[in-house]
Amino acid sequence: MKIDTKLLHEGYKPSKGDPRQMPVYQSTTFKYDTSDEMGKLFDLEADGYFYTRLQNPTNDMVAARICSLEGGVAAMLTSSGQAANFYAIFNICESGDHFIASSAIYGGTYNLFGVTMKKMGIECTFVDQNLPEEELAKYFKPNTKAVFGETVTNPTVSVLDLEKFARLAHSHGVPFIVDNTFATPVNCRPFEWGADIVTHSTTKYMDGHAVGVGGCIVDSGNFDWMAHADKYPGLTTPDDSYHGITYAEKFGKGAYITKATAQLMRDFGSIQSPQNAFYLNLGLETLSLRMARHCSNAQAVAEFLNANDKIAWVHYSGLENDEYHELAKKYLPNGSCGVLCFGVKGGREASIKFMDSLKVASIATHVADSKTCLLHPASHTHRQLTDEQLIEAGISPDLIRFSCGIEDTQDIIDDIKQALDQI
Ligand SMILES: *Cc1c(COP(=O)(O)O)cnc(C)c1O
Repeated sequence: MKIDTKLLHEGYKPSKGDPRQMPVYQSTTFKYDTSDEMGKLFDLEADGYFYTRLQNPTNDMVAARICSLEGGVAAMLTSSGQAANFYAIFNICESGDHFIASSAIYGGTYNLFGVTMKKMGIECTFVDQNLPEEELAKYFKPNTKAVFGETVTNPTVSVLDLEKFARLAHSHGVPFIVDNTFATPVNCRPFEWGADIVTHSTTKYMDGHAVGVGGCIVDSGNFDWMAHADKYPGLTTPDDSYHGITYAEKFGKGAYITKATAQLMRDFGSIQSPQNAFYLNLGLETLSLRMARHCSNAQAVAEFLNANDKIAWVHYSGLENDEYHELAKKYLPNGSCGVLCFGVKGGREASIKFMDSLKVASIATHVADSKTCLLHPASHTHRQLTDEQLIEAGISPDLIRFSCGIEDTQDIIDDIKQALDQI
């Protein structure tokens, strides 16, 4: 099946008399007839549902759909993108470990990695993702356990050189984890370029309608944990909390997701509610239709802004003069996403006047959904960062993140035009 068909049919295949739409299993618990049946589930000896904190059929069907879109072998839903990125790292890093992340990543993830995980004894080094390979290689240490980046960064919409990062990670014997939220598997499937694990904030395009916060982790099954057994004891040595099961031995390619579910989800409990998974699934059904429109709207808006003399600069990889245009042609041939960023001439004051004058586009702490919205990271999402950190993350103080919805293209452009006239 092609991706448009997978969006509608993977993960749930009803047979005769079954509901046509994927049902919501709105139940915390599941019934068994014998104590032995239940015991086997707790020992991970048998497959089955027993408590929604560990697994729920609706969540599993939606996870299987996303897994298929990405071309992975196993996937799980989480309560948010934050939970997905935390689990993705914490599943293979423990106190005393180190990992490397691009400094251009989403502000919430930057904070999680740089501040909160540091308190857990896990150190993250942030790097400029545009540095040449040999420069980036200098950041690896003996205790480095993973490399992390975003396909298209939020908010600066830089395109990550996936093959370069995959090569770096693999030559140092660690997996490459990619947050693919902005591109979605419709526009890029990082596993095809060497990534090992993909994460999503499903809150964005996948849900697409701003109804449910959620996340997802997908494993390609390609990273050989046993070949680097000394680095990943959590996967390659017995787990005392499961009667001495060794995940990589017992579950093979499913080891990483099984551990994240059986251990991290059991202990931290950041589950997605089945009702939200149901909403997420409705969003997925139209994802490819919406992505095409988000991208064509963003391309038109970027071209309009690029030609307007009240605009200081525009970043959108679909523009031929954009520094990421060549990388985008390689990794995102069908378009990147609906998000672009730009600066208005006249500094902070003019930017605020512009933002407050918009009528169709609304100021919202959100991005990547059906309605056009915008945000000024320096005064909203990234306000916890110092100016120095902002610049390190590639965010200039005048940067406006503009997320094109799926409204009529001309209406979005006319709205921007009248707001620029107010300056
Ligand atoms: C929004 C976002 C997150 C965090 O996701 P939540 O669902 O808000 O927790 C992580 N990564 C990227 C790229 C995002 O855009």
